[in-house]
Amino acid sequence: MIKKSTEELKQKLEKEKSSLEKELKNFANEDSKSRGDWGTRYPKFDGGNLESEADEVQEYEKLLSVEYNLETRLRDVNLALEKIKKGKYGKCEKCGKSIDIARLKACPEAKFCTKCNIIKS
Ligand SMILES: [Zn+2]
Repeated sequence: MIKKSTEELKQKLEKEKSSLEKELKNFANEDSKSRGDWGTRYPKFDGGNLESEADEVQEYEKLLSVEYNLETRLRDVNLALEKIKKGKYGKCEKCGKSIDIARLKACPEAKFCTKCNIIKS
């Protein structure tokens, strides 16, 4: 892979990492013991009546799924950054071939090449 594009993608990944972390911090706390593991804070609405409790539960469930998505993406971004450090970035985890640069530009945290990604899903 060309060094310049790796550098570009690395910057993109780092930007994504900080924006994902920022989003997560809005409603979740990172586990101090296991890094990269986030826990959603239970929302507390004013009032304390049954109606607001039901809203809280609903909101909490919504946040849990958002948290799950963000956490998964953040994990992939971190893995990609780790791979750049080790010089293993841009290789498909399944077939070992280089991932298309166009695909990496659209999705820098991609783990699989286009072909394997289709098979996987
Ligand atoms: Zn592949």
